Amino acid sequence: MVVDPRCRMTLRGRFLRALAARKAFTPARMAAYAKRHTAFYAEFYRDHDPADFASLPVLRKHLVKERDPYDLLARPLRDKVVYYGETTGSTGSPTPAFYTAKEFRGATLLTLISPWCTLLREVLRENRTVLNGLAFGFTVAGMSFGDLLKNVGALVANTGCRSTLATPPRIARGIARLRPSIVAATPIDFLSWMRVLREDFPGAEPEARGKLRALLMTAELCGEERVKRLAEHFGIVVIDVYACVEGFFSLPCPCGEKHVLPAYHAELFDDDLGCIGTEGTGRFAFTNLLKRSTPMVRYLLDDLVTISASQCPFGFRKSIVVHGRHELTVRIRGEKVNVRHFENVIFAHGLFGDFRAVIHEDGMAVTLEDYAAPAGAAEKVARALTSRFGMPAEVDLVPFGTITDYREPRKSKPILKVEDRRRASTQEPPSLL
Ligand SMILES: [Zn+2]
Repeated sequence: MVVDPRCRMTLRGRFLRALAARKAFTPARMAAYAKRHTAFYAEFYRDHDPADFASLPVLRKHLVKERDPYDLLARPLRDKVVYYGETTGSTGSPTPAFYTAKEFRGATLLTLISPWCTLLREVLRENRTVLNGLAFGFTVAGMSFGDLLKNVGALVANTGCRSTLATPPRIARGIARLRPSIVAATPIDFLSWMRVLREDFPGAEPEARGKLRALLMTAELCGEERVKRLAEHFGIVVIDVYACVEGFFSLPCPCGEKHVLPAYHAELFDDDLGCIGTEGTGRFAFTNLLKRSTPMVRYLLDDLVTISASQCPFGFRKSIVVHGRHELTVRIRGEKVNVRHFENVIFAHGLFGDFRAVIHEDGMAVTLEDYAAPAGAAEKVARALTSRFGMPAEVDLVPFGTITDYREPRKSKPILKVEDRRRASTQEPPSLL
């Protein structure tokens, strides 16, 4: 991996990293704090001693769903919280989170630890305009990315998306008129806007494309190969951020990995919720060691991830790879595979739009939206899928927009991309997308 020379670990980054580690509670202390100060944890841990952290039950999303959100709010900070957010709740159980002004600022400041920031700063010195097209509805994604971009010196157009005000044609028009150097978006939205830009504003497209230097992505899983194809096709830097409702628990790094932030205690659990430890592959749960207003202790985010030690040249010690949601994991020939495994096979052969894979008893059928795939790419994908998963794969290449209408605001998050229709399927598709 060749690290972009514009990326550096700054003195401020080092300082913030050390500060976060110093301010962090131990996991047991955070559990004790949560039990003492919130109605929810007082009840949840009634028969548990927080000092024995390993014995504490994991917090599953459905437990939070039925609760009054204020039960999760720590009493000492009740009058200090200024923001409220929720996850999109794709499993049908949105998780609430409150923020004090200090917490919100701290979470976005923590992103300055990333060595990508020196590159973003350099890009912004040339052209300060940024279009932030992440969602603002309940989620803090839009707000927090707007804030972090402001922190690195940007002029931010917070357009949002997925609303009748910020339609793809309107956002494409914004890109044509503002000519941003950075766009923050989910990968699917970004592709949609760039397609509309080409179709509706052909005169402005070359200049707008020429000014674009970087894409900041979040909220949707994006495999490494998809990141590479996006970067190649648009000639930009693509930074993929794995975050959740209450902040950035991981940091994308120019070394090519995502690192777990020192403010988080990350744990892995098996299918039966037995704790595997802090390294390996399993269901991801975290304890935020800094957040005092809405403590999150052993919160089962429930993505299937791999956590391992890192040899990062910037001094980060732990890396995390996200494979997809645990409940959507598919077993093929004994191997647990998920969206990331499929993306890395598919996008190795070209840039596609959205895709869906359906696994039947006798093979898989994959629908791929063409975006900028070279001739013969679909056949190559079919052969690669067949060889990777050991089952016959049929690939149907369809025009961009067939799966996701790129001119309409999206109504759902594409989560069920790999559907297992075999009798032995253990998938539990979400009730609400
Ligand atoms: Zn790194």
